[in-house]
Amino acid sequence: MKKVAVFPGSFDPFTKGHECIVEKALNLFDEVVIGIGQNTSKKYFFDLERRKAHIESIFEGKDRVKVQVFTGLTVNFCKSINAEFIVRGLRDSKDFGYERSIAQMNQEISGIESVFFMTVPEYTAINSTIVREIYKSGGNIDLFVTNAEMLVK
Ligand code: ADP
Repeated sequence: MKKVAVFPGSFDPFTKGHECIVEKALNLFDEVVIGIGQNTSKKYFFDLERRKAHIESIFEGKDRVKVQVFTGLTVNFCKSINAEFIVRGLRDSKDFGYERSIAQMNQEISGIESVFFMTVPEYTAINSTIVREIYKSGGNIDLFVTNAEMLVK
C-alpha cells in the first residue's frame, strides 16, 4: 500500500524551511500532501490562492507532492485522503514542546502517527512570521523563500 503523509500548516508563506521538510519526507513516504489548513477564525497575510499557487510552483514536476486546502481537524483530512501519517518540522525545543501534545492527542483520537524531521541548521532561524514582516517592510525575502516572486501582491 502507498504510504501517504500530510504536511499540514498555514504556510503564510511557505519557506525554504518547509521545503526542506518536504524533501526529507519524500525519502520516507511515497506521497506527501501539503495541507494548507484554513481556520476561519485566523487571519492570513497572503491569500489562500496565492499561497497554494506559490507552493505548487515550487514542486512543479514532482508528482509525489500534492497541495490541498483543508478545513477542520488535520486527522479528519488525513482520513479523507487515506493518509496514515502527519509530518511536522522541528526547529528547537519550543517546537518540540508544542508538537508533542498535538501529536499525542492526534494519536489518541485517530491512531494517526506524527513523524518529525529536524530542520537543517541554516534554516533553523527561518519562520513565516519574520519572513512576513520583512516582506511587509519591502525587504528581500529571496534568501528564505523559493519562487518568492509568486507571492508578489
Ligand atoms: P502552523 O501554523 O501549523 O504552525 P506553519 O506554517 O508555521 O504552520 O508550520 C508548519 C510546519 O512547518 C510546523 O511543523 C513547523 O514546525 C514547521 N516549520 C516552520 N518553519 C520551519 C523551518 N524553518 N524549518 C523546519 N520546519 C519548519
